[in-house]
Amino acid sequence: MEFNELTCVRNEEYGHNQHVLSFKEPLSFEPGHYVTVFFEGMKPAPFSLASAPGKPVQLAVEIVGAVTTKLSEMKPGDKVKVKGPFGRFVLGNEEKSCFIAGGIGIAPFMSMLRASEHDMILLYSCKDQNQILWHDELDSMTDNISVNITLTRAKWNHITGRVSQETIKKYVPDYLDRVFYVCGPLTMINELFEMLAGLGVSKDNLKREVWYVQ
Ligand SMILES: Cc1cc2nc3c(=O)[nH]c(=O)nc-3n(C[C@H](O)[C@H](O)[C@H](O)COP(=O)(O)OP(=O)(O)OC[C@H]3O[C@@H](n4cnc5c(N)ncnc54)[C@H](O)[C@@H]3O)c2cc1C
Repeated sequence: MEFNELTCVRNEEYGHNQHVLSFKEPLSFEPGHYVTVFFEGMKPAPFSLASAPGKPVQLAVEIVGAVTTKLSEMKPGDKVKVKGPFGRFVLGNEEKSCFIAGGIGIAPFMSMLRASEHDMILLYSCKDQNQILWHDELDSMTDNISVNITLTRAKWNHITGRVSQETIKKYVPDYLDRVFYVCGPLTMINELFEMLAGLGVSKDNLKREVWYVQ
């Protein structure tokens, strides 16, 4: 597979360790797909495409090591090589879905929310308000999308605390009719799947993308 070269046009910082990178070039892919990023002398690393298919690429990055630091330092005009798209964590053809995102795990869901006309509910858990990516855009999503943001380490007038069975019952009342999508560290996925199974959600309605094993 050939490399694609992406040219950075904007780098926005959120909180102290998250960045949204916007590039000039579009890519064609399915919402939920990822690309592998290649910097010379560094290991290849996967990043979910947050943009809608066919629109200029956006990636969201949390700084944890060398590759994510290098991405976070990109300036307008800088280029990065990617391969892809790859992945099987794509939106199915069910009518109703629910996405559960912890922090930077919002990335693939942003693409799904931007691209699909399904009935979708987002539960997005962030530490504090500075960590909420695409807040204005999420607030102005269309009627088929219900956006629910919870803060785990700060107070505000909306939802607070980690996603629990009570959160699901309150904000996803038809949870037995929905397909759930979760991405992030394996421990988080396991906890959420156990919680959802406890509510009676069928295994067939649980989809996951493991970002790393913690
Ligand atoms: C399919 C897929 C899609 C992904 N999409 C995204 C994305 O859109 N945005 C994004 O920021 N990351 C994403 N990731 C995770 C990302 O690939 C890794 O964070 C990255 O490879 C780390 O590279 P590094 O060199 O910066 O750090 P490394 O040196 O590889 O890792 C440093 C340390 O951090 C741990 N670690 C790795 N990832 C994380 C993390 N996300 N949070 C906390 N600790 C971590 C590692 O276990 C290691 O101990 C995705 C992963 C997969 C598998």
